[in-house]
Amino acid sequence: MSTHVLVLGGGYAGVMAANRLAGRDDVTVTLVDARPRFVERVRLHQVAAGTHGGLHDWAEVLGERVRVVVGEATHVDTAHRRVGLADGTALTYDHLVYAVGSHATDGGVPGAAEHALAVSTFEAATRLRAALDAEPAVPVVVVGGGPTGIETAAELAETGRAVTLVCGGVLAPYVRPHARRAITRRLARLGVTVLEQPRAAEVRSRSVLLDDGRVLDGLTVWATGFAVPDLARRSGLTTDAAGRLLTDETLASIDDDRVVGAGDAVAPSGVPQRASCQAAVPLGARAADTVLAHLDGRVPEPVDNVFLGQCIALGRRAAIFQASRPDDTAVALHVSGRAGAALKEGVTRQIVAGLTREARRPGSTRLPSSASARARTLARADRVTSALPQARVSA
Ligand SMILES: Cc1cc2nc3c(=O)[nH]c(=O)nc-3n(C[C@H](O)[C@H](O)[C@H](O)COP(=O)(O)OP(=O)(O)OC[C@H]3O[C@@H](n4cnc5c(N)ncnc54)[C@H](O)[C@@H]3O)c2cc1C
Repeated sequence: MSTHVLVLGGGYAGVMAANRLAGRDDVTVTLVDARPRFVERVRLHQVAAGTHGGLHDWAEVLGERVRVVVGEATHVDTAHRRVGLADGTALTYDHLVYAVGSHATDGGVPGAAEHALAVSTFEAATRLRAALDAEPAVPVVVVGGGPTGIETAAELAETGRAVTLVCGGVLAPYVRPHARRAITRRLARLGVTVLEQPRAAEVRSRSVLLDDGRVLDGLTVWATGFAVPDLARRSGLTTDAAGRLLTDETLASIDDDRVVGAGDAVAPSGVPQRASCQAAVPLGARAADTVLAHLDGRVPEPVDNVFLGQCIALGRRAAIFQASRPDDTAVALHVSGRAGAALKEGVTRQIVAGLTREARRPGSTRLPSSASARARTLARADRVTSALPQARVSA
Protein backbone atom coordinates (compact mmCIF):
# COMPACT_ATOMS: atom_id res chain seq x y z
CA MET A 1 0.00 0.00 0.00
CA SER A 2 1.23 3.45 -0.87
CA THR A 3 2.13 6.06 1.76
CA HIS A 4 1.07 9.62 1.05
CA VAL A 5 3.53 12.39 1.99
CA LEU A 6 2.29 15.96 1.84
CA VAL A 7 5.00 18.60 1.46
CA LEU A 8 3.87 22.06 2.61
CA GLY A 9 5.86 24.75 0.83
CA GLY A 10 7.66 24.55 -2.50
CA GLY A 11 10.77 26.56 -1.75
CA TYR A 12 14.29 25.11 -1.77
CA ALA A 13 13.64 22.81 1.19
CA GLY A 14 10.22 21.58 0.08
CA VAL A 15 11.25 20.92 -3.53
CA MET A 16 14.35 19.01 -2.45
CA ALA A 17 12.28 16.93 0.01
CA ALA A 18 9.52 16.20 -2.53
CA ASN A 19 11.95 15.12 -5.25
CA ARG A 20 13.84 12.85 -2.89
CA LEU A 21 10.68 11.22 -1.55
CA ALA A 22 9.35 10.64 -5.06
CA GLY A 23 12.16 8.17 -5.70
CA ARG A 24 10.29 5.53 -3.72
CA ASP A 25 7.61 3.60 -5.60
CA ASP A 26 5.68 2.97 -2.40
CA VAL A 27 5.39 6.73 -1.67
CA THR A 28 3.06 9.23 -3.35
CA VAL A 29 4.02 12.87 -2.96
CA THR A 30 1.87 15.99 -3.09
CA LEU A 31 3.49 19.41 -2.84
CA VAL A 32 1.29 22.33 -1.78
CA ASP A 33 2.44 25.85 -2.51
CA ALA A 34 0.63 29.15 -2.50
CA ARG A 35 2.29 30.18 -5.75
CA PRO A 36 1.69 28.86 -9.30
CA ARG A 37 5.43 28.68 -10.11
CA PHE A 38 8.71 28.02 -8.28
CA VAL A 39 10.27 31.22 -6.96
CA GLU A 40 14.06 31.48 -7.14
CA ARG A 41 14.09 33.48 -3.96
CA VAL A 42 17.81 34.23 -3.85
CA ARG A 43 17.30 36.35 -6.99
CA LEU A 44 14.48 38.54 -5.68
CA HIS A 45 16.72 41.63 -5.43
CA GLN A 46 17.30 41.06 -9.16
CA VAL A 47 13.54 40.80 -9.75
CA ALA A 48 13.20 44.19 -8.05
CA ALA A 49 15.95 45.69 -10.22
CA GLY A 50 14.62 44.07 -13.41
CA THR A 51 17.74 41.97 -14.04
CA HIS A 52 16.05 38.53 -13.60
CA GLY A 53 12.55 37.03 -13.82
CA GLY A 54 12.95 34.88 -10.69
CA LEU A 55 10.41 32.20 -11.71
CA HIS A 56 10.55 28.61 -12.99
CA ASP A 57 7.70 26.29 -13.98
CA TRP A 58 7.11 23.60 -11.37
CA ALA A 59 7.89 20.97 -14.05
CA GLU A 60 11.42 22.38 -14.36
CA VAL A 61 12.33 21.70 -10.74
CA LEU A 62 10.03 18.86 -9.66
CA GLY A 63 10.08 15.16 -10.55
CA GLU A 64 7.23 13.77 -12.66
CA ARG A 65 5.84 11.79 -9.72
CA VAL A 66 5.29 14.89 -7.57
CA ARG A 67 1.72 16.20 -7.77
CA VAL A 68 1.43 19.98 -7.27
CA VAL A 69 -1.54 21.64 -5.58
CA VAL A 70 -1.52 25.43 -5.78
CA GLY A 71 -3.17 26.68 -2.63
CA GLU A 72 -2.54 28.22 0.74
CA ALA A 73 -2.52 25.92 3.76
CA THR A 74 -4.45 27.49 6.62
CA HIS A 75 -4.44 24.74 9.26
CA VAL A 76 -2.67 21.49 10.08
CA ASP A 77 -4.90 19.03 11.93
CA THR A 78 -2.45 16.45 13.26
CA ALA A 79 -5.18 14.42 15.01
CA HIS A 80 -6.87 13.66 11.68
CA ARG A 81 -3.71 14.05 9.54
CA ARG A 82 -5.38 16.68 7.41
CA VAL A 83 -4.36 20.09 6.06
CA GLY A 84 -7.03 22.71 5.39
CA LEU A 85 -6.58 25.06 2.44
CA ALA A 86 -7.81 28.63 2.01
CA ASP A 87 -10.30 27.55 -0.71
CA GLY A 88 -12.12 25.41 1.86
CA THR A 89 -10.80 22.04 0.63
CA ALA A 90 -8.56 19.73 2.66
CA LEU A 91 -5.79 17.23 1.93
CA THR A 92 -5.00 14.18 4.04
CA TYR A 93 -1.54 12.75 4.67
CA ASP A 94 0.35 9.89 6.26
CA HIS A 95 3.45 12.04 6.77
CA LEU A 96 3.86 15.79 6.45
CA VAL A 97 6.95 17.85 5.57
CA TYR A 98 6.56 21.38 6.95
CA ALA A 99 8.68 23.72 4.78
CA VAL A 100 6.79 27.03 4.59
CA GLY A 101 9.91 29.23 4.60
CA SER A 102 9.97 32.87 5.63
CA HIS A 103 9.07 36.43 4.66
CA ALA A 104 10.10 39.98 5.67
CA THR A 105 9.66 41.25 9.20
CA ASP A 106 8.94 44.92 9.88
CA GLY A 107 10.55 44.69 13.33
CA GLY A 108 7.61 46.60 14.82
CA VAL A 109 8.98 49.94 13.53
CA PRO A 110 6.12 52.45 13.14
CA GLY A 111 5.02 52.88 9.54
CA ALA A 112 7.16 50.03 8.16
CA ALA A 113 4.25 47.66 7.57
CA GLU A 114 2.19 50.39 5.83
CA HIS A 115 4.79 52.28 3.83
CA ALA A 116 7.93 50.19 3.28
CA LEU A 117 8.52 47.98 0.26
CA ALA A 118 10.53 44.73 0.40
CA VAL A 119 12.28 42.02 -1.63
CA SER A 120 11.66 39.01 0.59
CA THR A 121 8.79 37.49 -1.40
CA PHE A 122 8.07 37.43 -5.13
CA GLU A 123 5.00 39.63 -4.68
CA ALA A 124 6.94 42.19 -2.61
CA ALA A 125 9.80 42.32 -5.13
CA THR A 126 7.31 42.76 -7.98
CA ARG A 127 5.59 45.62 -6.13
CA LEU A 128 8.98 47.28 -5.63
CA ARG A 129 9.78 46.87 -9.34
CA ALA A 130 6.46 48.55 -10.24
CA ALA A 131 7.07 51.41 -7.80
CA LEU A 132 10.55 52.00 -9.27
CA ASP A 133 9.23 51.87 -12.84
CA ALA A 134 6.58 54.43 -11.93
CA GLU A 135 9.19 56.89 -10.62
CA PRO A 136 12.50 56.48 -12.44
CA ALA A 137 14.20 59.32 -10.54
CA VAL A 138 13.01 58.68 -6.99
CA PRO A 139 15.81 57.89 -4.51
CA VAL A 140 15.69 54.68 -2.49
CA VAL A 141 16.52 54.11 1.18
CA VAL A 142 17.31 50.46 1.92
CA VAL A 143 17.02 49.60 5.62
CA GLY A 144 19.11 46.61 6.74
CA GLY A 145 22.88 46.11 6.62
CA GLY A 146 22.83 42.32 6.18
CA PRO A 147 23.14 40.40 2.91
CA THR A 148 19.61 41.12 1.63
CA GLY A 149 19.95 44.88 2.23
CA ILE A 150 23.43 45.01 0.68
CA GLU A 151 22.43 42.97 -2.39
CA THR A 152 19.33 45.13 -2.92
CA ALA A 153 21.21 48.41 -2.51
CA ALA A 154 23.97 47.36 -4.92
CA GLU A 155 21.61 45.93 -7.53
CA LEU A 156 19.46 49.10 -7.59
CA ALA A 157 22.48 51.43 -7.58
CA GLU A 158 23.91 49.59 -10.58
CA THR A 159 20.76 50.50 -12.54
CA GLY A 160 21.54 54.18 -11.86
CA ARG A 161 19.28 54.70 -8.85
CA ALA A 162 20.37 56.98 -5.96
CA VAL A 163 20.54 54.63 -2.96
CA THR A 164 21.21 55.09 0.77
CA LEU A 165 21.81 52.00 2.89
CA VAL A 166 20.82 52.36 6.56
CA CYS A 167 22.50 49.55 8.51
CA GLY A 168 21.39 50.11 12.12
CA GLY A 169 24.76 48.73 13.23
CA VAL A 170 27.80 47.26 11.57
CA LEU A 171 27.63 46.63 7.80
CA ALA A 172 27.61 42.90 6.90
CA PRO A 173 28.01 41.61 10.48
CA TYR A 174 28.80 38.03 9.37
CA VAL A 175 31.93 38.85 7.38
CA ARG A 176 35.50 39.50 8.56
CA PRO A 177 36.97 43.06 8.40
CA HIS A 178 38.89 42.54 5.11
CA ALA A 179 35.75 41.37 3.34
CA ARG A 180 33.76 44.22 4.92
CA ARG A 181 36.24 46.75 3.54
CA ALA A 182 35.85 45.24 0.06
CA ILE A 183 32.06 45.53 0.34
CA THR A 184 32.35 49.15 1.49
CA ARG A 185 34.64 49.98 -1.45
CA ARG A 186 32.31 48.39 -4.00
CA LEU A 187 29.22 50.12 -2.58
CA ALA A 188 31.08 53.45 -2.72
CA ARG A 189 31.99 52.84 -6.38
CA LEU A 190 28.33 52.16 -7.13
CA GLY A 191 27.45 55.46 -5.44
CA VAL A 192 25.63 53.93 -2.46
CA THR A 193 25.66 56.13 0.66
CA VAL A 194 26.21 53.83 3.64
CA LEU A 195 25.03 54.96 7.10
CA GLU A 196 26.25 52.32 9.52
CA GLN A 197 25.04 53.25 12.99
CA PRO A 198 21.68 55.04 12.62
CA ARG A 199 18.51 53.00 12.85
CA ALA A 200 15.23 53.67 11.11
CA ALA A 201 12.79 55.00 13.73
CA GLU A 202 9.70 55.61 11.60
CA VAL A 203 8.75 55.02 7.98
CA ARG A 204 6.53 57.59 6.26
CA SER A 205 4.94 57.44 2.82
CA ARG A 206 7.83 59.18 1.04
CA SER A 207 10.59 59.31 3.66
CA VAL A 208 12.17 57.60 6.63
CA LEU A 209 13.03 59.16 10.00
CA LEU A 210 16.32 57.98 11.54
CA ASP A 211 16.92 57.75 15.28
CA ASP A 212 19.54 60.54 15.02
CA GLY A 213 16.79 62.91 13.81
CA ARG A 214 17.68 62.93 10.11
CA VAL A 215 14.90 62.46 7.55
CA LEU A 216 15.79 60.73 4.27
CA ASP A 217 13.43 61.26 1.32
CA GLY A 218 12.54 58.48 -1.07
CA LEU A 219 11.04 55.00 -1.25
CA THR A 220 11.92 52.82 1.74
CA VAL A 221 12.89 49.17 1.18
CA TRP A 222 12.78 47.09 4.35
CA ALA A 223 15.40 44.32 4.59
CA THR A 224 16.11 43.79 8.27
CA GLY A 225 15.62 40.03 8.44
CA PHE A 226 13.06 37.29 8.09
CA ALA A 227 10.03 36.12 10.05
CA VAL A 228 8.27 32.77 9.56
CA PRO A 229 4.59 32.04 8.90
CA ASP A 230 2.58 31.30 12.05
CA LEU A 231 0.90 28.21 10.56
CA ALA A 232 2.56 25.75 12.98
CA ARG A 233 1.72 27.86 16.01
CA ARG A 234 -1.86 28.44 14.85
CA SER A 235 -2.22 24.70 14.35
CA GLY A 236 -1.22 23.97 17.95
CA LEU A 237 2.23 22.58 17.14
CA THR A 238 5.05 23.54 19.48
CA THR A 239 7.27 26.28 18.05
CA ASP A 240 10.18 28.38 19.23
CA ALA A 241 9.51 32.01 20.25
CA ALA A 242 9.74 33.14 16.61
CA GLY A 243 7.15 30.59 15.45
CA ARG A 244 9.50 28.05 13.86
CA LEU A 245 8.40 24.42 14.19
CA LEU A 246 10.28 22.94 17.14
CA THR A 247 11.83 19.58 16.27
CA ASP A 248 14.35 17.11 17.55
CA GLU A 249 17.72 16.78 15.79
CA THR A 250 16.17 14.49 13.13
CA LEU A 251 13.72 17.30 12.19
CA ALA A 252 10.68 15.46 13.62
CA SER A 253 8.18 17.71 15.43
CA ILE A 254 8.39 17.20 19.19
CA ASP A 255 4.59 16.79 19.21
CA ASP A 256 4.14 14.32 16.38
CA ASP A 257 6.89 12.53 14.47
CA ARG A 258 4.65 12.25 11.40
CA VAL A 259 5.35 15.98 10.98
CA VAL A 260 8.92 16.71 9.87
CA GLY A 261 10.26 20.24 9.30
CA ALA A 262 12.83 21.76 6.93
CA GLY A 263 14.22 25.12 5.85
CA ASP A 264 13.79 28.56 7.41
CA ALA A 265 10.60 27.54 9.27
CA VAL A 266 12.20 24.89 11.50
CA ALA A 267 14.18 25.04 14.75
CA PRO A 268 15.90 21.73 15.53
CA SER A 269 16.44 21.57 19.32
CA GLY A 270 15.39 25.23 19.40
CA VAL A 271 18.62 26.16 17.58
CA PRO A 272 17.71 27.14 14.00
CA GLN A 273 20.33 27.23 11.28
CA ARG A 274 21.00 30.50 9.44
CA ALA A 275 17.96 31.34 7.30
CA SER A 276 19.50 30.48 3.95
CA CYS A 277 19.08 28.38 0.93
CA GLN A 278 22.47 26.94 1.85
CA ALA A 279 20.78 25.33 4.87
CA ALA A 280 17.31 24.81 3.33
CA VAL A 281 18.47 22.40 0.60
CA PRO A 282 20.28 19.92 2.90
CA LEU A 283 17.52 20.26 5.51
CA GLY A 284 15.01 19.34 2.79
CA ALA A 285 17.07 16.27 1.91
CA ARG A 286 17.41 15.34 5.58
CA ALA A 287 13.66 15.78 6.16
CA ALA A 288 12.94 13.36 3.30
CA ASP A 289 15.44 10.86 4.69
CA THR A 290 13.80 11.12 8.12
CA VAL A 291 10.36 10.35 6.64
CA LEU A 292 11.81 7.37 4.73
CA ALA A 293 13.55 6.12 7.88
CA HIS A 294 10.23 6.29 9.76
CA LEU A 295 8.56 4.31 6.97
CA ASP A 296 11.24 1.63 7.13
CA GLY A 297 11.26 1.43 10.94
CA ARG A 298 14.80 2.82 11.14
CA VAL A 299 16.03 5.50 13.55
CA PRO A 300 16.68 8.62 11.41
CA GLU A 301 20.06 10.33 11.22
CA PRO A 302 20.45 13.72 12.95
CA VAL A 303 21.03 17.05 11.19
CA ASP A 304 24.70 17.33 10.18
CA ASN A 305 24.98 19.68 7.18
CA VAL A 306 27.93 22.02 6.94
CA PHE A 307 28.21 25.66 5.90
CA LEU A 308 30.73 26.88 3.34
CA GLY A 309 30.36 30.64 3.84
CA GLN A 310 28.27 33.59 2.77
CA CYS A 311 28.10 34.92 -0.78
CA ILE A 312 26.84 38.49 -1.25
CA ALA A 313 26.22 39.92 -4.73
CA LEU A 314 27.34 43.53 -5.22
CA GLY A 315 25.51 44.15 -8.47
CA ARG A 316 26.10 42.04 -11.58
CA ARG A 317 29.87 42.62 -11.82
CA ALA A 318 31.14 41.95 -8.29
CA ALA A 319 30.40 39.87 -5.21
CA ILE A 320 32.00 38.78 -1.95
CA PHE A 321 32.40 35.17 -0.98
CA GLN A 322 33.23 35.06 2.75
CA ALA A 323 34.43 31.54 3.61
CA SER A 324 33.37 29.91 6.88
CA ARG A 325 34.07 26.96 9.10
CA PRO A 326 31.55 24.11 8.76
CA ASP A 327 29.78 25.43 11.88
CA ASP A 328 28.97 28.73 10.08
CA THR A 329 31.59 31.01 11.64
CA ALA A 330 33.59 33.18 9.24
CA VAL A 331 37.32 32.57 8.61
CA ALA A 332 40.02 34.86 7.21
CA LEU A 333 39.47 33.87 3.55
CA HIS A 334 37.32 35.76 1.09
CA VAL A 335 37.02 36.17 -2.67
CA SER A 336 35.92 39.52 -4.09
CA GLY A 337 35.45 41.44 -7.36
CA ARG A 338 34.74 39.70 -10.67
CA ALA A 339 35.97 36.34 -9.32
CA GLY A 340 33.44 36.69 -6.51
CA ALA A 341 30.70 37.53 -9.04
CA ALA A 342 31.52 34.45 -11.13
CA LEU A 343 31.47 32.29 -7.99
CA LYS A 344 28.15 33.76 -6.84
CA GLU A 345 26.47 33.26 -10.21
CA GLY A 346 27.87 29.73 -10.48
CA VAL A 347 26.63 28.79 -7.00
CA THR A 348 23.19 30.34 -7.66
CA ARG A 349 22.79 28.34 -10.88
CA GLN A 350 23.96 25.20 -9.13
CA ILE A 351 21.16 25.47 -6.56
CA VAL A 352 18.43 25.12 -9.18
CA ALA A 353 20.54 22.57 -11.09
CA GLY A 354 20.82 20.54 -7.87
CA LEU A 355 17.03 20.50 -7.44
CA THR A 356 16.60 19.43 -11.07
CA ARG A 357 19.20 16.69 -10.66
CA GLU A 358 17.38 15.34 -7.61
CA ALA A 359 14.11 15.41 -9.64
CA ARG A 360 15.72 13.24 -12.33
CA ARG A 361 17.62 10.95 -9.96
CA PRO A 362 15.99 10.97 -6.51
CA GLY A 363 18.40 10.23 -3.69
CA SER A 364 21.44 11.27 -5.75
CA THR A 365 22.20 14.46 -3.80
CA ARG A 366 25.17 13.87 -1.52
CA LEU A 367 25.80 16.77 0.81
CA PRO A 368 28.87 17.54 2.89
CA SER A 369 28.18 16.65 6.50
CA SER A 370 29.85 16.97 9.89
CA ALA A 371 28.33 15.86 13.16
CA SER A 372 30.99 17.82 15.06
CA ALA A 373 30.04 21.11 13.32
CA ARG A 374 26.45 20.78 14.51
CA ALA A 375 27.69 19.80 17.99
CA ARG A 376 29.75 23.01 18.10
CA THR A 377 26.72 25.06 17.02
CA LEU A 378 24.60 23.52 19.76
CA ALA A 379 27.33 24.09 22.33
CA ARG A 380 27.54 27.76 21.28
CA ALA A 381 23.79 28.33 21.44
CA ASP A 382 22.58 30.33 24.41
CA ARG A 383 19.79 27.96 25.10
CA VAL A 384 19.13 24.53 23.70
CA THR A 385 15.57 23.46 24.40
CA SER A 386 16.06 20.79 27.02
CA ALA A 387 14.20 17.55 27.52
CA LEU A 388 13.60 17.00 23.82
CA PRO A 389 12.68 13.43 23.05
CA GLN A 390 15.32 11.27 21.38
CA ALA A 391 14.80 10.37 17.72
CA ARG A 392 11.77 8.14 17.46
CA VAL A 393 10.27 5.73 14.95
CA SER A 394 6.63 6.05 13.90
CA ALA A 395 4.38 3.25 15.03
C1 LIG B 1 16.74 38.76 -1.91
C2 LIG B 1 17.17 37.50 -1.20
C3 LIG B 1 18.45 37.00 -1.45
C4 LIG B 1 18.88 35.85 -0.79
N1 LIG B 1 20.14 35.37 -1.05
C5 LIG B 1 20.54 34.23 -0.46
C6 LIG B 1 21.82 33.68 -0.76
O1 LIG B 1 22.60 34.26 -1.54
N2 LIG B 1 22.19 32.52 -0.17
C7 LIG B 1 21.35 31.86 0.69
O2 LIG B 1 21.74 30.79 1.19
N3 LIG B 1 20.14 32.36 1.01
C8 LIG B 1 19.70 33.53 0.46
N4 LIG B 1 18.48 34.03 0.77
C9 LIG B 1 17.64 33.35 1.76
C10 LIG B 1 16.91 32.17 1.13
O3 LIG B 1 16.21 32.58 -0.01
C11 LIG B 1 15.93 31.54 2.12
O4 LIG B 1 16.58 31.28 3.33
C12 LIG B 1 15.39 30.26 1.50
O5 LIG B 1 14.54 30.60 0.42
C13 LIG B 1 14.64 29.39 2.50
O6 LIG B 1 14.16 28.28 1.83
P1 LIG B 1 12.83 27.55 2.31
O7 LIG B 1 12.61 26.41 1.37
O8 LIG B 1 12.89 27.30 3.76
O9 LIG B 1 11.66 28.62 2.13
P2 LIG B 1 11.19 29.53 0.92
O10 LIG B 1 12.16 29.57 -0.17
O11 LIG B 1 10.75 30.80 1.55
O12 LIG B 1 9.91 28.74 0.39
C14 LIG B 1 8.76 28.56 1.17
C15 LIG B 1 7.61 28.24 0.25
O13 LIG B 1 6.47 27.96 1.07
C16 LIG B 1 5.32 28.50 0.48
N5 LIG B 1 4.35 28.73 1.55
C17 LIG B 1 4.51 29.49 2.66
N6 LIG B 1 3.41 29.43 3.43
C18 LIG B 1 2.54 28.61 2.79
C19 LIG B 1 1.24 28.15 3.05
N7 LIG B 1 0.57 28.51 4.17
N8 LIG B 1 0.63 27.34 2.16
C20 LIG B 1 1.27 26.96 1.03
N9 LIG B 1 2.52 27.35 0.72
C21 LIG B 1 3.14 28.17 1.59
C22 LIG B 1 5.80 29.78 -0.18
O14 LIG B 1 4.96 30.13 -1.26
C23 LIG B 1 7.21 29.40 -0.64
O15 LIG B 1 7.21 28.95 -1.99
C24 LIG B 1 18.01 35.18 0.12
C25 LIG B 1 16.73 35.69 0.36
C26 LIG B 1 16.31 36.83 -0.29
C27 LIG B 1 14.92 37.36 -0.03
